[in-house]
Amino acid sequence: MKRLLPLGLGLGIAAWLLPYGLDGYAMHVVDVAVVFALLGIGLGLVMGVAGQVNLAQVAFFGIGAYTCAILTTRAGLGFWVAAALALLAAVLIGLIVSIPALRVQSHYLGIVTLGLALAFLNWVTNAGVAGKSEGISDLPVPPMFGIDLSSDYLFYYVEIIVFAIALAFALFVVRAPLGRRLRAMRDDSLAAAALGAEIPLLRITAFVLSGLYGGVAGVLYAGLIRYVAPETFSIANMFLLLAMVIIGGRQSIVGCVLGAVVLSLIREVLVDFSVYAQLGYGTVVVLMVVFAPTGLAGLPALWLRRFRASQGRAELHSFVPYGEARAPEPGRVALEIREVSKRFKGLLALDRVSMTVTDGEIRGVVGPNGSGKTTLFNIVSGFYACEVGRVLLSGEDVTGFRPYRLSQAGVARTFQNLRLFGDLTVRENILVALDRTRTAWIWRYLVRPLAVVRQSRDLGRQADELLERFGLAEFAAAQPRALPYGIQRRVEIARAMAMGPRLLLLDEPAAGLNGEEVRRLAEIVRALRDSGVTVVIIEHNMGLVMSLCDRVTVLSSGRVIADGPPREVAAVPEVIEAYLGESTYLSLPGDVSQEAGR
Ligand code: ADP
Ligand code: MG
Repeated sequence: MKRLLPLGLGLGIAAWLLPYGLDGYAMHVVDVAVVFALLGIGLGLVMGVAGQVNLAQVAFFGIGAYTCAILTTRAGLGFWVAAALALLAAVLIGLIVSIPALRVQSHYLGIVTLGLALAFLNWVTNAGVAGKSEGISDLPVPPMFGIDLSSDYLFYYVEIIVFAIALAFALFVVRAPLGRRLRAMRDDSLAAAALGAEIPLLRITAFVLSGLYGGVAGVLYAGLIRYVAPETFSIANMFLLLAMVIIGGRQSIVGCVLGAVVLSLIREVLVDFSVYAQLGYGTVVVLMVVFAPTGLAGLPALWLRRFRASQGRAELHSFVPYGEARAPEPGRVALEIREVSKRFKGLLALDRVSMTVTDGEIRGVVGPNGSGKTTLFNIVSGFYACEVGRVLLSGEDVTGFRPYRLSQAGVARTFQNLRLFGDLTVRENILVALDRTRTAWIWRYLVRPLAVVRQSRDLGRQADELLERFGLAEFAAAQPRALPYGIQRRVEIARAMAMGPRLLLLDEPAAGLNGEEVRRLAEIVRALRDSGVTVVIIEHNMGLVMSLCDRVTVLSSGRVIADGPPREVAAVPEVIEAYLGESTYLSLPGDVSQEAGR
C-alpha cells in the first residue's frame, strides 16, 4: 500500500497535467474515456468482484444520463439537482435489476439482464418524454462557481476529481471485508453462506454499487456531451464495455480502468473501420478468455506465481492447542435432532432421524455411502429444509434457519469435497470467516470508513494468530488450490474455527489424508473439543472414529440403526450387517496411532 502511494501521486500529477499536451479533439476523446472508465469500475465490481453477470450496465449508464436530460430540459431543474436525482434513479434501477440475481445465476442472469437492457433501449427509442430516436439535445451547461464547463478542458478536471474519488472508494471496498465477502461469494456462494455471508443482500449490494457507478458515468456524460440519444446505450456498447472489462482483467479494478481507457482510445483510432473493429474486439476477447482469463491486470500475478513456485517450499507446522478452555456444562445438550426426515423426489434420504449431542462431546456419525450423513449436516447447517422434524441448538429451535443465521448461532462446518475459495489466499479464506458483522453494517463504508479500516486491521491480526495456531503461517499467501490435499483440509478446519463456533460439523475430514496426517487431525479435533467446542464428525476411518469419539451414531439407508459408545455400537449385529464386507474396519483396535505407524 505504501509503495503504491508515490505511484498514485505520480499518476495523479500526470493526469492533472495531461490537458496541456492535448488538442481539442484529443481532449474530448479522453473525456469520454474517463466516463467509460467509471462504467468499467462499476462492471468490474458487480461482475469481476461479485461474480454477477450483469449485461445491464449500459442501462444504468443510460438511466443516469436520461434522467439528467429529462429533468433539466423537461422539468426545468438545475443540473446538479437533476444529477442527484439521476444517481438515485440509477441506484434504484440497480436494486430492481438485482432481484433476478436472487433467483438465477451465471448465463441465465446474463440473459435476464440483457433483456432488461433491451427493454430500457426500447423505452427510450419509443417514449416521447425521452425524445424517441432523436434523443434529447440542448442540456444546460453544468454551473460551477463561474467556471465554464462547456470547455472540454475544464470539464476534464471535474471528471478526474469524481473519477479519483470513485476509484478510491472502489479500491477501498474491494480490499475491505465487504469486498472479500463478495469475492468469496463469487468463488463459492454455498461455502460463503456457511461462513455467515448473507448472499441475497450481498448480491443486491453488488448491483446497487454498479448502478451507482453507472449513474455517475451517465451524469458526467450528460454534462459533457449535453445530448443523449439511444445509440449511446446500445447493446453494441454493452459488449464494448464487456470487452473492456475482460481484456483489462475483471477481477482487478485497476485492470477494468486500464481496459476501458485503452479500448476507448483504440475505438477512436479505428472509428473509420468500425465493422472490422467489432470483429477485432471479439477476437481479442476470445483470445483473452482462453489464454489470459485474468486479463491484462492478471498477467503480473501469473508471472509472479511462476517465479514463486520455483522458490523453496513452505512447511506445515504443528497445531498449537488453545490455551483457555471452556469446561462443558455437564448434561447440557448442544445439538438435538428430533425425528428429522428428508425426501429427494422418490428417495427418503433421512427417515425420522433423532440424535442428541451433549456439550463438549465428540460425536461420530458413520454409515455406508449414501446413508444420509451429509444430508443430515446439510439440514443442521441450513442448506436443506426438512419437511418433518426439528433441530435444536442448545435448546433453541433453529429449524429452517438460513445458513448465515446458523453460522451466527455458532454452527460451523467443513465439506466432504473441500469448498475453499479458490481465488482467495489462505489468509483471506480465514478472514472471510473471522468477519462476523452483518451485511447491514455496510452503511459504515460510506459514513465511517475509518471504523472499517480499524475492523479490517483487527481481523488481520486475528487471522495471523489463527494461521500461526494451525501451523499454516507459511501458506498464508498461497492459493488453496495450489496446496496438497492434507493442507487444504487443515485450512478448511481453521476456517471453520475462525468463526468461533460452539458446534463444529466435520464431513469426512480424514478422507484423502495419510496415516500421519490422520493422527495429527485426531489431535487437533481433541484440542478443539478441549477448548469448548462440541464436535460432530462424519468419518469412514473406523480407527479414527473408535479412538476419537465419545459416542457414535450409525446411519443406514437414512435411519439410525445404532447409537452409543464406540465399542458397544461396533458389537450391534445390525451394524455389522450394514458394514458387511467392511467388518475388518470395525474390529480395528481403538488407537489410530497404530495406523500412523504402518
Ligand atoms: P452420505 O453422506 O451418507 O454418503 P448423502 O447424505 O450424501 O449420503 O446422500 C444420501 C442420499 O441422498 C443419497 O442416495 C444421495 O444420492 C441422495 N441425495 C443427497 N443429496 C441429494 C440432492 N441434492 N438431490 C437428490 N438426491 C440427493
Ligand atoms: Mg457424505
